[in-house]
Amino acid sequence: MRAMILEQPGKPLRLLDVPQPDPTPEQILIRVHACGVCRTDLHIIDGELSEPKLPLILGHEIVGTIERVGAQVRGFNVGDRVGVPWLGWTDGTCHYCRAHHENLCDNARFTGFHIDGGYAEYTAADARFCFPIPDGYPDLQAAPLLCAGLIGYRALRFCGEGDRLGLYGFGASAHIIAQVARHRGWQVYAFTRRGDSASQNFARELGAVWAGSSDEQPPEDLDAAIIFAPAGELVPAALHAVAKGGRVVCAGIHMSDIPSFSYDLLWGERIIRSVANLTRRDGKEFLQIAPEVPVHIEITEFPLEQANEALLALREGRIQGAAVLRVSHEKINRQR
Ligand SMILES: [Zn+2]
Ligand SMILES: [Zn+2]
Repeated sequence: MRAMILEQPGKPLRLLDVPQPDPTPEQILIRVHACGVCRTDLHIIDGELSEPKLPLILGHEIVGTIERVGAQVRGFNVGDRVGVPWLGWTDGTCHYCRAHHENLCDNARFTGFHIDGGYAEYTAADARFCFPIPDGYPDLQAAPLLCAGLIGYRALRFCGEGDRLGLYGFGASAHIIAQVARHRGWQVYAFTRRGDSASQNFARELGAVWAGSSDEQPPEDLDAAIIFAPAGELVPAALHAVAKGGRVVCAGIHMSDIPSFSYDLLWGERIIRSVANLTRRDGKEFLQIAPEVPVHIEITEFPLEQANEALLALREGRIQGAAVLRVSHEKINRQR
C-alpha cells in the first residue's frame, strides 16, 4: 500500500510502498478514505512529543470502510464505515481506567503515534476504540470530527455553564466548537493572531459576536476560554479576559512555556486546566451531537501524496477550517 512515512522527527514524510497491516483478533482492517491533519502531527514531526513509534504512519482522524474483521471483533461488519480516533488502546486495568478516566491510562497507546495511523491506504485499529460515523457527513467532512471535534468537545464540557466563551486560535477545532457552543447558548468571542482578518471574518461567519487579536481585551469579561493555539503566553492573556470564577481550558497536547504572571490573574477563583486525550464516552456523545447542531465542517483537501504540503499549510496558518487528506479515490467517488 502507499503510505506517507515519518522515518525520523525533523524530516519530511516520505511516500513509500509498504506492506498492508495484518489485523490482530481484536482489530479491524480499514480501507482509509480520508484522514484529518492535526496540529499534534506537527508536534510529533517536530519531536515535541517524546518516543513515537518509528518509522511511523501519522494520522488519527481516520474515516474508512472495514475490509476485514478479527475473530474477536463484535459490533462491526465488513463494509461498515468507521472512524478511528487518537485513543487507540487502553489497558482497562490501571487506576485511571478503573476510575473511568481512560483518557489518562498509564499504558494508553495512541493512533498515529504508538500505532500506525491513517496517512496510508489501509490501517488496522482495535475495534473497541472505533466509532460508527454519522450518515450525514461525507468522509472528508467526517474526519475532523474525530479529533478537532472530540477534543474540542471535551474542552467545552470543562468550560461549564456561562454566557460568554473565548476561543484562542480559530483553526479546525475552534470552527467546530464555535458551532456547538452557539447551539448551547454561548456567545462566542474569537481570538486570532494579530492581523489575521481572514480567520476573524471566518469566525464572524460562524456566528462569533466578536473577533479580534489575542492580545486584545474583549469588550466584556468572559465566563470561560479555550486555548487551542500552542502558545503559552495565551494563558495569562486568557486569565486576564475571564471574569471571577472563569475557567481557562488548554486544549492542546503541547504548548510553549507559560510566562510567569501575577497571582492577581488567578485570584477570584479563576481556574486553569488542561485537556488530555479523550474517552470513548466523549466520542459517542460528540458524534451524536454533531449532526443535531448540525456542525458544518469546512475543509481544505489534499491528496495523500501531498501530506507534507498540508502540514506546511497548517504550520503557516493557511488552512481555513480543517486540512484533510483524500486517500482513496474510487470509494469516495462512488458515494457521491
Ligand atoms: Zn489531533
Ligand atoms: Zn489504564
